[in-house]
Amino acid sequence: TLLTPAVAVTAVTAIAVPTRSVASLRTFATTTPKKAKIMAILYKGGKAAEEEPRLLGTVENKLGLSDWLKQQGHEFIVTDDKEGPGSVFQKEIHDTDILITTPFHPGYLTADLFKKAKKLKLCVTAGVGSDHIDLNAANEHNVTVAEVTDSNTSSVAEHVVMSILLLIRNYTPAHEQIVGGEWDVAPVARLSFDLEDKVVGTIGAGRIGRKVLKRLQPFGCKELLYFDYAEMSKADSEALSVRRVEKIEDMVAQCDVVTINCPLHEQTLGLFNEELLSKMKKGAYLVNTARGAICVAEDVQKALESGQLSGYAGDVWNIQPAPKDHPWRSMRNPLGGGNGMVPHISGTSLDAQLRYASGTRDIIKRHLEGSLQEPANLIVENGEYATKAYGSRKN
Ligand code: NAD
Repeated sequence: TLLTPAVAVTAVTAIAVPTRSVASLRTFATTTPKKAKIMAILYKGGKAAEEEPRLLGTVENKLGLSDWLKQQGHEFIVTDDKEGPGSVFQKEIHDTDILITTPFHPGYLTADLFKKAKKLKLCVTAGVGSDHIDLNAANEHNVTVAEVTDSNTSSVAEHVVMSILLLIRNYTPAHEQIVGGEWDVAPVARLSFDLEDKVVGTIGAGRIGRKVLKRLQPFGCKELLYFDYAEMSKADSEALSVRRVEKIEDMVAQCDVVTINCPLHEQTLGLFNEELLSKMKKGAYLVNTARGAICVAEDVQKALESGQLSGYAGDVWNIQPAPKDHPWRSMRNPLGGGNGMVPHISGTSLDAQLRYASGTRDIIKRHLEGSLQEPANLIVENGEYATKAYGSRKN
């Protein structure tokens, strides 16, 4: 259905790392051939990409990799055609050695597609967030998954702070008035507050969560909170003036604003459902630039329309591109505002594109040369999770 999250994360019950012996690993070809087949799933940039070569993450500009790969004799297929068995993605995956995808136009590499991808050795996420790859299946098939860690975390953190401000100040309906030729202060000001003296909490205090907390320092918030199974060092929490709350329900109940900054995995899929939303302060704001499917779309819509939430903003959707009738496009609070949604743009500023394009090149270069990857970029390797960020596993 429209609102079924098209994510590659495995079933909610599959929290533990699959137990398997090394012998059971389905190791396909172990090395990438000198002449490799590399496929990139990117979004179409059209006229904008033809006019602006710094739009590197597009089909037209191919992450700036085309000449470099072709000079080395590799085959490089770039497409935006990713849905269904007839798509270029699904037709070409069977003999692809290296797959490049991006969270902005995700090629969903499901467990079924992994079975077809007999030669696949490396998946590179041009950006941050590899939930569109079934990571348990990547482990099972011994495929390495790497992303360009930190390439766009400042870009997202800036977007989060902007979204918090535009919701709490009631910016969007005020701007719409001006564009529509109106001038009426009171209906906008009746739901416009200061960020000063408010409580803000982050779900996830990794790279983005911490950058958000850092950027919130000068606003004089009443308190900054975080919920994360990974505890910050005392020095870090003191530097960020942030307090840890151990239960998510307790944290959201204290917050005027909640910002979601954790990956999508089995434990965060549908985390913000009717029940958790009902535990938030009435009239609070929720900003989600992490992944759309962390929130249940209809439950967010109902919470906003009932006034339980005063605002919801973000750039990530449970299906991307979002269908025209997706409720997050048109939902409003009872006073006609509170919608701060945009397409998936927070992590794809031109500055970010330069960083994730060059990071993608570096990951592929190391792989083709047989040299070690930057450890922070590795999500799964050798049949194991190399990061602790995708769920509180005991590995
Ligand atoms: P990170 O790995 O540095 O930090 C993630 C943090 O989330 C970790 O501290 C981890 O312990 C915590 N976490 C994991 N599961 C949790 C849970 N169930 N509850 C609470 N905390 C949990 O990652 P990052 O660089 O900060 O990025 C975070 C996510 O943001 C990415 O995985 C991606 O989905 C999203 N992102 C979005 C964009 C965008 O353009 N909108 C760009 C970059 C990243």
